[in-house]
Amino acid sequence: MGKTIYQMARKEVRGFKPYQAGKPIDELKRQRHLSDVIKLASNENAFGPSPLALKSAQKILRQINRYPDPGGYYLCKRIASHWRIPKSQVTLGNGTDELIELVAKAFLNPEDEIVISQHAFIRYRMAGELMGCKIKEVPMRSLTHDLGAFAKAITKRTKLCFVANPNNPTGTYVNAREVSRFMSSIPKDMVVVFDEAYTEYVTAKDYPNMIEYLRHGKRIVILRTLSKIYGLAGLRIGYALAPSSIVEIIDRIRPPFNTSIVAQAAACAALDDYAHIRKCSKLNRQGMKYLEGEFHKLGLETVPSQCNFILVKFGPRAARINEELLSRGIIVRPLPDYGLDEYLRITIGKPEENRRLVRALKGGYC
Ligand SMILES: *Cc1c(COP(=O)(O)O)cnc(C)c1O
Repeated sequence: MGKTIYQMARKEVRGFKPYQAGKPIDELKRQRHLSDVIKLASNENAFGPSPLALKSAQKILRQINRYPDPGGYYLCKRIASHWRIPKSQVTLGNGTDELIELVAKAFLNPEDEIVISQHAFIRYRMAGELMGCKIKEVPMRSLTHDLGAFAKAITKRTKLCFVANPNNPTGTYVNAREVSRFMSSIPKDMVVVFDEAYTEYVTAKDYPNMIEYLRHGKRIVILRTLSKIYGLAGLRIGYALAPSSIVEIIDRIRPPFNTSIVAQAAACAALDDYAHIRKCSKLNRQGMKYLEGEFHKLGLETVPSQCNFILVKFGPRAARINEELLSRGIIVRPLPDYGLDEYLRITIGKPEENRRLVRALKGGYC
């Protein structure tokens, strides 16, 4: 007998655990014969997509017999003019998720190192593991990225590091001063990826402006997504801003039609819908305030969040409470894969969804 299929897989793949996504609504309905299910698990925009994006998506549907523009000309141009940077500094991804993997595939050899944080978005680790490189994980400080620890962990072999700002699943951020100190302390010949998936929700005044670093020619990659405040998670589209030399390398391996014709059109419209963004960020702040207040009344500890979700400490009962919520048709995100077994991550929902969650928690499980 020859090798099994498992043995035929790359050694990196044999060690892989698949990503655990938030449970889809229909899956819970099927599994538990429930008709009324809400999902507060995947940091989607509870208030829906921009109406302008919807209209634009509908209009372009007539053209889906055609391949999309592989370079996403109009969308990249729209993004570049918004940030007042050259179009050559923009590239698109099938979600930011794809861009994380493309950066890893483009740069990492098995002898390279990456530096990531404990409790950081897990896709950075997975990207490193896929490439078989060495992964250095530094501890957090108060559930926040510790850039001082990052700087200490960097060696001559470090090629990439990933900073989620703000971070998922903790919701915490690093400020402008910390980033500035970090950027001036690291070797010039490495690339720092700043994942800013939640940037539009941030209200902190000392949040850094990474575009300035890009304008100064720093070797950074800024990742943005249309999946969160723009409400287009199902269309899969995100973008990277980076020096042209980095974009050129990513584009060499980027699948030519990685973003769909519908996603490109909808994203263009969504980026222009400032009214929708303002509305969603306001509703998010109100929902956050309400939930924080209710969690505290229940004696639960929360982590200060700059995002559209909140990390709540339930202690050893977290897994049981998650089960109870599922049986009541409420999906939240348990975090054993993040080493945060005592916590649940809860996405801010519509006001009635938030109230339903609070009612369920008050129903004797807290
Ligand atoms: C949600 C999220 C993303 C992006 O997701 P896509 O849907 O793939 O664009 C990226 N980084 C973090 C930290 C996220 O939470």
